[in-house]
Amino acid sequence: MKFTTLPRVRLANLPTPLQELKNFSKELGGPRIFVKRDDLTGLAFGGNKTRKLEYILAEALAQKSDYIVTSAGFHSNWCTQTAAAARKLGLGIVLVKKGPENNYDPVEYDGNHLLHFLMGAEVKVARPEHVEDVIEETMRQLREKGHNPFRAEVTGSTPPGVAGYMNCILEIMTQAVEMELKPDYVVHTSGSGGTQAGLVIGAKAFSTGIKVLASTSGSDAYEDQIEKVYNIVQEGLQHMEMDLEISRDEINVYDQYAGDGYGYMSENKVEAVNMLAKTEGLFIDPVYTATSVSCLIDLTRQGFFNKDDSVIFIHTGGTPALFLYKEPFKTYNLEGSIPWIIPSWSPDIG
Ligand SMILES: *Cc1c(COP(=O)(O)O)cnc(C)c1O
Repeated sequence: MKFTTLPRVRLANLPTPLQELKNFSKELGGPRIFVKRDDLTGLAFGGNKTRKLEYILAEALAQKSDYIVTSAGFHSNWCTQTAAAARKLGLGIVLVKKGPENNYDPVEYDGNHLLHFLMGAEVKVARPEHVEDVIEETMRQLREKGHNPFRAEVTGSTPPGVAGYMNCILEIMTQAVEMELKPDYVVHTSGSGGTQAGLVIGAKAFSTGIKVLASTSGSDAYEDQIEKVYNIVQEGLQHMEMDLEISRDEINVYDQYAGDGYGYMSENKVEAVNMLAKTEGLFIDPVYTATSVSCLIDLTRQGFFNKDDSVIFIHTGGTPALFLYKEPFKTYNLEGSIPWIIPSWSPDIG
């Protein structure tokens, strides 16, 4: 298999810590729960995209590119980590972001948008249906000026990116041996599916016995999410020339913890954020990580896990988004209701 010989540029602080969440586990009264701190990967407040970028940007460097062009949502963590990686490697960066209207420019610069601005990324905002045109136009203009731009696909769920989370499984197994621990489950949030694909391949390829449980960050149909992850798994296996069979039944998806949709606030997400903050002083975000922590809380309450199971929550980062939700947190924690549902930067507003 080509996994160990893939081109890679080192960007992350690895291995990230694997820590036991004793108070959180006690509060829930279920299995032993651990956290894999991928919020500490090190680049621009950390997160899961850094592991993928080590493989994706290695390809850009091999092609001698001097500019990275990518796209995603307005407050995308992918954009933040890609911009930081580009800066660290001395490259130019253009972010084409989805917003409620073309050229949307909020009054307050906050969350990831603020970070994009501070890194001097060239930011273009477009309605989702115009994003592709803007990317193509940007690539053309850069080439005209004599640059060699590299287009990084949104969220990095491409075959080379999958290797990043196979690595994470290897790290977990090494740490588990040191901690005399046998991990039974990993729980994480799945969006574009690359993280889940890497975990599922790694868990099986390295005979770990770990079951991967993923909660979705958005309201994609259940079958579509399975199909998306299944396809990335197959592409990843092919890319790495691995002779391994993985079927759709081995892809576990929970789609009921995202509230009304991507980035929307909901009570179960507030509960998850509050509980980890209060029991462990650990912060997660309402867009991504809160959905899988909510899933973990709910499955534990339903008696899904055995008392002697060891469950690892993978903290995939995203904490800069926490500050975008100050209003709903304040109102919910003081008055018990959520004041708004759709964030102003969502294309669903337009
Ligand atoms: C992007 C992201 C995810 C989802 O990862 P995918 O590989 O796109 O499925 C989860 N958590 C955070 C914080 C993210 O930024």
